[in-house]
Amino acid sequence: MIQQYIDIKNEHKDCLLLFRVGDFYELFFEDAKIGAKALEIALTSRDGEDGIPLAGIPCHALDTYLAKLLRQGYKVAICDQVEDPKQAKGIVKREVVKIVTPGTIIDENLLDAKDNNFMCALACYGNKAGLAFVDNSTGQFFYTEGRLSFESINRIISKYLPSECIVSSEFPLLSKLRRLTLNISIHEVNAEVTSDFNPLLEQIINHKAGLEAVKLLICYLAETQKNSLAHLNKIDYINLNQYMNLDYTSIRNLELITTIKENRKKGSLLSVIDKTESAMGGRKLKQWLLSPLLNIEEINHRLNMVDSLLEDGLLLKNLKDCIGQIYDLERLSTKVAYQTVNPKDLVALKNSLQKIPQIKELLIKSNTKSLVSLANRLCSLDRLANIIEQGIVSSPPTTIKDGGVIKPGFNKELDDLIYTANNGRKLLAEYEEEEKTKTGIKSLKVRYNKVFGYYIEVTKSNLDLVPESYIRKQTLTNAERYYTENLKRYEELILGASEKIIQLEYELFCEIRSSVLECIEEIQNNSNVLGELDCLCSFATLSIDNNYCKPRLSNDDEISIVNGRHPVIEETIGRKNFISNNTLLDCQDNQVLVITGPNMAGKSTYMRQVALITLLAQIGCYVPAEEAKIGIVDRIFTRVGASDDLSSGQSTFMVEMTELANILKNATSKSLILLDEVGRGTSTFDGMSIAQSAIEYLLEKDKIGAKTLFATHYHQLTSLEDKFNGVKNYSIAVQEKNDSITFLHSIKKGGSDRSYGIQVAKLAGVPSPVIQRSNDILKVIEEDSVTKKQVSTTQQDIFDLIDNKNQEFINEIKDINVDEITPMEALIILQKLQKKV
Ligand code: ADP
Repeated sequence: MIQQYIDIKNEHKDCLLLFRVGDFYELFFEDAKIGAKALEIALTSRDGEDGIPLAGIPCHALDTYLAKLLRQGYKVAICDQVEDPKQAKGIVKREVVKIVTPGTIIDENLLDAKDNNFMCALACYGNKAGLAFVDNSTGQFFYTEGRLSFESINRIISKYLPSECIVSSEFPLLSKLRRLTLNISIHEVNAEVTSDFNPLLEQIINHKAGLEAVKLLICYLAETQKNSLAHLNKIDYINLNQYMNLDYTSIRNLELITTIKENRKKGSLLSVIDKTESAMGGRKLKQWLLSPLLNIEEINHRLNMVDSLLEDGLLLKNLKDCIGQIYDLERLSTKVAYQTVNPKDLVALKNSLQKIPQIKELLIKSNTKSLVSLANRLCSLDRLANIIEQGIVSSPPTTIKDGGVIKPGFNKELDDLIYTANNGRKLLAEYEEEEKTKTGIKSLKVRYNKVFGYYIEVTKSNLDLVPESYIRKQTLTNAERYYTENLKRYEELILGASEKIIQLEYELFCEIRSSVLECIEEIQNNSNVLGELDCLCSFATLSIDNNYCKPRLSNDDEISIVNGRHPVIEETIGRKNFISNNTLLDCQDNQVLVITGPNMAGKSTYMRQVALITLLAQIGCYVPAEEAKIGIVDRIFTRVGASDDLSSGQSTFMVEMTELANILKNATSKSLILLDEVGRGTSTFDGMSIAQSAIEYLLEKDKIGAKTLFATHYHQLTSLEDKFNGVKNYSIAVQEKNDSITFLHSIKKGGSDRSYGIQVAKLAGVPSPVIQRSNDILKVIEEDSVTKKQVSTTQQDIFDLIDNKNQEFINEIKDINVDEITPMEALIILQKLQKKV
């Protein structure tokens, strides 16, 4: 058996092999050690202490253990006994029946209903990278192409957060990819893609890199799933240029999906805005949130539908009621393709399909063009619903094994068999009565068990009354069991019919299942439309519940918000307690807002609220404000303190500067940038200089000209307002009384000139002697700095100096007349310039 194990394991080196032995799945050798640790189960050994390491799990608990392994990123090959051990000659035959990997799970128990589970494949062709994504549990399948660079791949991957990533061993960026906390499997396309996929592949033939990735993904699925992939019947091309670019840093910093600190859903933007009724809607909402739109018409299309839903409260309520009763049709489609769908699932499918005409009617009656067009995209599938309705009883058992699934009247042959079986039982009851009278044994009973079939039971006290014709079958302590010729006849009748019933019910069930399979595309299409509708209803509900307003979108560069709020904080502290604030950003006089104010005043909250309102507007959602005019933003950049990534081994300052570099290199005049305390990670003067020069760079229209919110402790930076046109100072109001402060959280024009650090320390409960002493030290330092004022102005001058020198340098280069000089002269000029640097 160990030899058999070794042979199979050699075929599946990259998997943990769960090897069926009797009622257990066993892990051997290295796998046993890994498994024991990952599953917290005992590591033992076969044949005594020095034997082969062994760890095992009981078969019935497979799901629980499997979930644990998958969560930790392992691939698992399940090897079953594929023949009856009783019939086996020698060692029972075993085969890997399926390979389960983190990215291919379809079992609902292992998945989060409102979350996709994406898997991705990466391939390259020339200088392009192709990325293919699939959610095997829902059948969602798409691909894209981009520049073959780490940044562009990182950006796409951050959006869909695949739980598994497949690349070929030759992929050029492999080592860099490993830096992302990704679960990477190396895989080669070593089989031809089955011809089933030809029509699908033909559609994408012109995207060479994408095609390679899609092929890799299909091969991987075919090899691991060993199953029909009928649920993957269409593929979409995702054009990333049509969405706002949100990189991983911003998704995390803005806490769109999870919180930064605890990595939890609760407290994220998604958790606040999610009012969806169905799993399909929940998943769609997450995708929408990570893909804000850039096209005004598309955004307005969504907003207008939300509008119509808001205008008709009854329509909204009725739609939500209907959607709430709809089963996860997307995941059900996969189960149909995998043939794991059970009778209960089919009834749930039928109930869901029966809601669709109702939803269509509601939408059509709304008389709103966009809602009617949504209705037209839904397929009613009445015929399929009828087949299930007529074929399957209304509350069937979960398995088909024991029959009782098919409705009477659906199939004549089945009805006849059931009649025969029932009739047999009736005859049997009559036979029992007859025998009682005939023998005079009042306690005589006809019974049934699985081992002996039907028998007549007579208690010991009545044995003398038993007729000759009874044949003894079994003796118990208190009774004897018999059979008779007649009884045998009835038994054959009933059991024969029952066996045939089960067989026929199974066949009929499979027929109904095939009818469902034929409609799989329509069902998936419906899931998609219902998901969208659910999101739109969720937006409408949100705007009622949380008092949001409809944003106005434009293609100009202005963001102007009246009484905006932070959607998450206002929920946590209670809407009444949240102080709303206005915002005005544009590419002219209000391009960079320098926001000062003590810690805890609300600077980060304010900046994030601007980003979140913009983002919500661009997904077509109402926003937490009284009024909002949003000029479309192509990308949101964030550099905020909280993302300090200590685990990556980089110093806080290094991370900060890497992020700043990324922003300065990639921002455009359409971008929105949040910078929180840039320069904090180094000495004051260094930090301040970097902060100031970054602002200056951002202000240059021909370079960047992006709208920027800049929160800082350095109140010296407020002097920039006078120097540059696009800068405006704001501060967060604080009320000072005696030696304490109260945060008013309202933003006002003008900078603040104090940090109130010591007052904040006092609020935080730092012991009073320390507070007292801090005040004393501060006084000394402040007096000191007044006498040294000279120094700080010199600091300022250094900037100017550098500026002037640069200018001189630039002028010199500008003056070169490239058309006139010889190559030699060019070299001489270059040498001269180099000396000056
Ligand atoms: P800062 O960035 O200035 O240090 P934060 O933005 O982190 O301050 O805000 C600190 C806390 O103040 C928040 O957690 C929140 O509870 C509260 N807060 C911030 N803004 C407001 C507001 N506009 N209304 C009410 N409370 C607020």
